[in-house]
Amino acid sequence: MRSLFSLVFAFLFLAPATARQAVVIDAARAFDGTEMRANWRVVVEDGRITASGAQDATPAPAGARHVDLGNRTLLPGLIEGHSHVLLHPYSETGWNDQVLKESRAERVARAVVHVDRSLQAGFTTLRDLGSEGAEYADVGVRTAIRKGVIPGSDLIVAGRAIVATGSYGPKGFHPEVRVPLGAEPADGPDLIRVTRDQIGKGADFIKIYADYRWGASGQAAPTFSVEEIKSIVETAASSGRPVVAHASTEEGMMRAIHGGVETIEHGDSGTPEIFALMAREGVVWYPTLAAVESILSYGGWQKGVDPEPARIARKKAAFQAALAAGTEIGMGGDVGVYHHGENALEMELMVEYGMEPTAVLRATTSLNADTFHLADRGRLAAGLRADIIAVDGDPSRDIAAIWDVVWVMKAGDVVRDDQ
Ligand SMILES: [Zn+2]
Repeated sequence: MRSLFSLVFAFLFLAPATARQAVVIDAARAFDGTEMRANWRVVVEDGRITASGAQDATPAPAGARHVDLGNRTLLPGLIEGHSHVLLHPYSETGWNDQVLKESRAERVARAVVHVDRSLQAGFTTLRDLGSEGAEYADVGVRTAIRKGVIPGSDLIVAGRAIVATGSYGPKGFHPEVRVPLGAEPADGPDLIRVTRDQIGKGADFIKIYADYRWGASGQAAPTFSVEEIKSIVETAASSGRPVVAHASTEEGMMRAIHGGVETIEHGDSGTPEIFALMAREGVVWYPTLAAVESILSYGGWQKGVDPEPARIARKKAAFQAALAAGTEIGMGGDVGVYHHGENALEMELMVEYGMEPTAVLRATTSLNADTFHLADRGRLAAGLRADIIAVDGDPSRDIAAIWDVVWVMKAGDVVRDDQ
């Protein structure tokens, strides 16, 4: 009797998961990952998109549930290219104090909140660029989301990230004081062991700091040699993992490109020549505009009131140079420096700095998916995972519409419905 009951009970729980009802989603517009379409329909079965096409040419499967999103715009689930779920805004707590004073438990508790906020904002996937002193907590949070333990965006994670000895923070202590660092130091031949160790502990990709603020006057200066970067790239490549680089100086960017990294983060001092080389080599740039503007505002700068700081003028010049060179520019804002869930800030700034809204939408969907080797998402296309969102208005006309998320589906499950 008891076993029969268990059997029936198990069936009740398993039935919806094994044979979920098909869902037909209609909307006035859809950005399919490449271009804007009118009167669009997406059909979802068992967590996958089975059709994406014009409403009058795409039949609904028998017995399907119908979701009519009216005058909304459908998009593929958005992909954040540069997050730190284990950080929270520096206006609340400075980076040093987060690394030195917040317990691992506190930081993980915050991350659990952050990944849910990100998902509710329509970002169904985040590429997370380092735990910043929280060891492999990012790997654990990623796994908990995959297992369905907590709601949140899918994560691909860097783990600890690699820095050259002596370059990274927290700094300012006398030499005998041992402090936990924001990333793992390694040099020379030891880089091979550390790269393999990070892979073994769950990193989806390897992040290095090709330069950092350790110059003679505290300015940013290169760290690893090209040979060191090549050894990291070659070691990671054996396991099928890419390497990405923090780099803001010309020399740091050049070494990272010649070393074989796939993406460059920040790139503030990028020149037309460097961006042309990136375009030729297929290296994608993540400019992190929102982090720069946020940090300046925490320092008292009032946008639209005070004169434009030199750092922003330089960033705008770099952005223009990259657009002119045809460099692929991905969407990644360094969210965590500012509030998780406010990822759209970077998209607005990309438009403000000179990119077409449709190109920004592409950067946040198909380009990010391709760059991160996520072949199962980033487009509304048959066969891909059903990560789909709807926003009020038309973000290809006014990018600000991307803030107005009303509906979110992740892998076929509706996780937000404000209709
Ligand atoms: Zn970052």
